[in-house]
Amino acid sequence: MGEAVYPVPAEWAQSALIDEAGYTDMYRRSVDDADAFWREEAKRIDWIKPFTQVRETSFHEADFGIRWFGDGTLNLSANALDRHLAQRAETVAIIWEPDSPDEPARKITYRQLHEDVCRFANLMKSRGVKKGDRVTIYLPMVPEAAVAMLACARIGAIHSVVFGGFSPDSLASRIEDCDSTVVLTADEGLRGGKAVPLKANVDAALANLPSVETVIVLKRTGGAVTMQDGRDIDWHDGVAAQSADCPPEEMGAEDPLFILYTSGSTGKPKGVLHTTGGYGVWASMTHQYVFDYRPGQIYWCTADVGWVTGHSYIVYGPLINGATTLMFEGIPNYPDPSRFWQVIDKHQVEIFYTAPTALRALMREGDDWVTRTSRSSLRLLGSVGEPINPEAWEWYHRVVGEHRCPIVDTWWQTETGGVLISPLPGATALKPGSATKPFFGVQPMLVDNDGAEIDGAGDGCLVIKDSWPGQMRTVWGDYERFFQTYFSTFKGLYFTGDGCRRDGDGYYWITGRIDDVINVSGHRMGTAEVESALVAHPKVAEAAVVGMPHDIKGQGIYAFVTTNADVEPDEALRKELVQWVRREIGPIATPDVIQFAPGLPKTRSGKIMRRILRKIGENDVGNLGDTSTLADPSVVDHLLANRPGQD
Ligand code: ATP
Ligand code: MG
Repeated sequence: MGEAVYPVPAEWAQSALIDEAGYTDMYRRSVDDADAFWREEAKRIDWIKPFTQVRETSFHEADFGIRWFGDGTLNLSANALDRHLAQRAETVAIIWEPDSPDEPARKITYRQLHEDVCRFANLMKSRGVKKGDRVTIYLPMVPEAAVAMLACARIGAIHSVVFGGFSPDSLASRIEDCDSTVVLTADEGLRGGKAVPLKANVDAALANLPSVETVIVLKRTGGAVTMQDGRDIDWHDGVAAQSADCPPEEMGAEDPLFILYTSGSTGKPKGVLHTTGGYGVWASMTHQYVFDYRPGQIYWCTADVGWVTGHSYIVYGPLINGATTLMFEGIPNYPDPSRFWQVIDKHQVEIFYTAPTALRALMREGDDWVTRTSRSSLRLLGSVGEPINPEAWEWYHRVVGEHRCPIVDTWWQTETGGVLISPLPGATALKPGSATKPFFGVQPMLVDNDGAEIDGAGDGCLVIKDSWPGQMRTVWGDYERFFQTYFSTFKGLYFTGDGCRRDGDGYYWITGRIDDVINVSGHRMGTAEVESALVAHPKVAEAAVVGMPHDIKGQGIYAFVTTNADVEPDEALRKELVQWVRREIGPIATPDVIQFAPGLPKTRSGKIMRRILRKIGENDVGNLGDTSTLADPSVVDHLLANRPGQD
């Protein structure tokens, strides 16, 4: 496939925080003179007791350790709130846009947010919550979710946010896994005009969990709920009695901040633990540089706070930076597929950060939903969550951004705390589909299956050579799984689980999960490449590709294809797509099976779960593994019933 290159627009090169020369210089210092570099960057945080040790890190078994700014103390809620009060108390911290455009938006200033957090922190304290306790947050996308997180940070409690779309069982297993005794929830959530019975789900989850002592219930819709005496309290009644003064707890840099379960794309979700100091520095720094954030700009990340993207880029990064962060309760296509772009116009959003899955879904509905809006406030676009196929990238750039806005394609993981590989808008020429270059202090490396380093251009497993401040510290309660998963495959290196190609310009291209690599007649192929070729066809909306056993080739290619809304898939299209892929990539990538599907199995965070498709491709459908994080399990039944040759 031809590689388009988009140079840095002139006005960005001139006015951005970091230009090309700046990136090169800072990157070099971040690696060659790391202690001095991080000592300087850590000044973005207000420390209570300054650290003397910058880092004590090793990925080797004998002296393994990940400690950053280890003897410093701080409080991240104070960094996100109190310290802004002198300069920007009346600046809007959170713009809240509700599910329905008919309901008014809310704007919450730093002064108000500070007060709300203090009162809520005092309410939790009055229920006996103290430093180190685990608090499960199961709330809709409302400002109170941020209030709850920051209130935990204020008193040193460890929050575990569980996405409001999860079932009672999934919620129960996450409450149990971290032994949390407090659950924060709402009567109901609202998404796409539908009520989600959050409190009823909590009640079901807690049926067999008597260890939970307190449930605090926010009123969102006013829907009927049952309250259990002694255990359940009403949020508003509870805070009304509390003082607005709550001194922040002095936290060690390595004290835990939160637990967050991964999306479960590759297996049972892991309880990723992040600590305070390094995470705070990383969230703030990446938010500022990747989005070129300047105080006063309106910034919108469409993720849910139930995912790490919401933690780092709706709550912690932006608020530590004193930003105005937009929080959206709804979904991209409600009441219609124009919603994102209308919200951008309504609040004059300048920086917009979303996921490829949302873009592909909207692209499928046609350009008109976009072009009927102005979007003149937009200056920068971002993408996260999966490889963005060049077709979707080009659409985002051309139709949404009208060629004006650079796109930062940010590669990272729950485990990494924040962005590791991404363009900087004033510094990096863009190549659609590439996450481009490493962020400061990040040393990516490609290795082959035996762990030998691949120099220069090449293709291999993506590993990271050395620690960065935002790195996870352990899997909650399972240090063994932590070490095994990330540090045992390649000795002394952090294993990302992703496959990656580096081109001649040193640009990184994520090719998909290592587990998903297909080996056709000895040729290793990333799923992302074949999927991109399929999605580039004008009638295809989405595609997922897995390997299948093949007598001659070893592995063949099994493609699941969703067509555009107005296309009726047939045999002619199947043949056309086979030819199309042969032309785009080469005969080696010829799909052996194409199954048309109205929907693909996705995690609740919108990622395609290829491990389930792989089982279908292998005709091994007896045990599909952990499916608890699937957004819509019925999609799988449909796929099973419609396998070619099954009728
Ligand atoms: P689990 O670890 O439970 O299987 P998960 O890996 O989907 O779930 P996350 O931490 O939410 O959980 O996702 C991180 C993964 O998402 C990365 O390892 C990568 O595969 C993919 N990813 C994220 N951003 C990008 C991007 N910009 N380009 C390519 N891939 C991306
Ligand atoms: Mg993962």
